[in-house]
Amino acid sequence: MSRFFSNKYASLVPYTPGEQPKEMQYIKLNTNESPFPPSKKAQEKAAEAAKKLQLYSDPECRALNAAMAERFCVNTDEILMTNGSDEILNFAFMAFCDDKTPAAFADITYGFYSVFAEINRLPYRIIPLNKDFSINVDDYIGIGCTIFIANPNAPTGIALPVTEIEKIVKGNPDNIVVVDEAYVDFGAESCVPLIKKYDNLLVTQTFSKSRSMAGARLGFGIGSRDLIADLNTIKYSTNPYNINSMTMAAGIGSISDDDYNMNNCKTIVENREYTVSELKKLGFSMTESSTNFIFAKSDRIEGGELYRKLKERGILVRHFDKAAISNYNRITIGTREQMQTLIDTIASILEER
Ligand code: PMP
Repeated sequence: MSRFFSNKYASLVPYTPGEQPKEMQYIKLNTNESPFPPSKKAQEKAAEAAKKLQLYSDPECRALNAAMAERFCVNTDEILMTNGSDEILNFAFMAFCDDKTPAAFADITYGFYSVFAEINRLPYRIIPLNKDFSINVDDYIGIGCTIFIANPNAPTGIALPVTEIEKIVKGNPDNIVVVDEAYVDFGAESCVPLIKKYDNLLVTQTFSKSRSMAGARLGFGIGSRDLIADLNTIKYSTNPYNINSMTMAAGIGSISDDDYNMNNCKTIVENREYTVSELKKLGFSMTESSTNFIFAKSDRIEGGELYRKLKERGILVRHFDKAAISNYNRITIGTREQMQTLIDTIASILEER
């Protein structure tokens, strides 16, 4: 830390993103990226837009907003496009939490929530999950906080049905409930249709996982017109050109080719089922995943050791040190070939012991 760093941030512990090593070619199963390239239409549109980079991007994001509104059956003023969904989540912390309205989220969930609260100097309440990592809906009723729920949750992969989320939204009519649906396209139900019924619901999603565009940084939020207006106030006060023109164009291409994206999701779900059944044969147990990753542990090998041994053999998975989950690894679902290599490698690691 330099002697000039603001006191406000002196104790800030930043979010740790998954490793992106360059020193060797790993099979990367650690950051929930798609193993498939983005849609050709996305690539073509981005290349076309690159020719006009001398101009600022459209701060209103009109063309992409129109395409998104059609795809999600909402109005254009019920959507805000952002620089990854991390950006809209940060905007939501800024817009909807304060000293009187703390944030609330689960103890085991997306690690960025507490960082967003800290950087914005907001109070937050941590709500423990059940022993099996499920959410107890009753813990979230009428709690006077802005609630953040990843659904499906990360890193557990477990999804709540929409009827359960609706109970939470209904049970907090004077507070915002943010449902982070980063992984919804891999088998969970989306709450987007509920935004017409509840003015306190914000749903966020991303192009990073199901649309193979993690590197483009494109996310979005859907909610009532007034909520989106509040979030726009934050956006125009921080970065009006938050989406670059290439990403905006790629988003339009991608959403016009969403069958391609959704077919890839289907393949990933098939590969997930394959991986789950093979890992069970090797003695692993897993939470029930509705995402493009699994959360797995085995009594035969400790989580950290498996992570290290896989890394030595060229396979990266994600291991968290937090005590309650340190025996687990979060493994992104890749191609069938990658998953076969993973299974074979785990089998040989177990055999060597
Ligand atoms: N929510 C959850 C639960 C995530 O796991 C991630 C990915 N790290 C994000 C949001 C943010 O993803 P992005 O900014 O790439 O849209």
